Amino acid sequence: MLKRLTTLASLLGVAVASTAALAYPDKPISVVVPFAAGGPTDVVARSLAQAMGGPLKGTLVIDNVNGAGGTIGAGKVARAPGDGYTLLFHHIGMSTAPTLYRKLDFKPLDDFIPIGAVVDVPMTLVTKPQMTQTNLKELLAYIRANKDKINLANAGIGSASHLCGLLFQNALKTELTTVPFSGTGPAMTALLGGNVDVMCDQTTNTTGQIKAGKVKAFAVTSKGKLANFPDLPPLATELPGFEVGVWHILYAPKNTPADVVNKLQGALQAAIKDPAFIAKMKDLGAEIMPVERQTSAGAKALLSAEISKWAPIIQAAKAYAD
Ligand code: ASP
Repeated sequence: MLKRLTTLASLLGVAVASTAALAYPDKPISVVVPFAAGGPTDVVARSLAQAMGGPLKGTLVIDNVNGAGGTIGAGKVARAPGDGYTLLFHHIGMSTAPTLYRKLDFKPLDDFIPIGAVVDVPMTLVTKPQMTQTNLKELLAYIRANKDKINLANAGIGSASHLCGLLFQNALKTELTTVPFSGTGPAMTALLGGNVDVMCDQTTNTTGQIKAGKVKAFAVTSKGKLANFPDLPPLATELPGFEVGVWHILYAPKNTPADVVNKLQGALQAAIKDPAFIAKMKDLGAEIMPVERQTSAGAKALLSAEISKWAPIIQAAKAYAD
């Protein structure tokens, strides 16, 4: 029926959406999250998927494809068909991976169509509950004096926690032992159990644990203080210029038809306006992206600017992976 309608319309010279887009979505959409389930990227992706389902009249299912700091999941989506049924929800790691990895099997700016940017999430510097220091100054002094004993958890090279840890070690002029996990969900479990000492992680994973007093929080990575944590100083108060914000973008593989991208974008923009989504993000300390970033052009401009921003910083840190 759709085919006949389209043929008729084209005979009449009427512009119509592709048959694929008219029917889209007619099966569940897989959203690849390149980190472990239960972590901060996963939490935001699941909330977004739920909020997009209504406006899209479809189901979005999260697929956690972990490993190598998010590059395995991103590579999988880069090679997926551009039919709107495999998407990627990724963060700042899309902009650091091209400099960090000598060999990367995808090109962030060429292999994807950004649907739109969703949220910007600050990080917190948290430690295992057993740490006895009571403020940031004391913690930094302790880390400087005990660098051989400190384990710094992260979600692998290319993750936000890795980037934050890299900047942290550079600022302290100290090299720590890093312990990579498949995401900061499992890294948080290790921190709660006292098996690792320190971690930078998004507020979307740390808020609950900090508020419950299960981990110790010492600082935020935003320029100023956060409304949700008025007692936590910005790291920049001790380490001048320190600032990391973890932005998140939803992508489709390149070659996805424009009308499918438009449908996804409409659903993303509607989801971001959903009061339940807004309330959840606010609770977790995530900031909704401005409207101009909720578009392909706006999100691509953000990605491109961040690739240029982080490249010289990573090169100066000589932090490469193969
Ligand atoms: N917070 C993680 C990161 O460091 C990723 C995650 O598990 O969501 O990139």
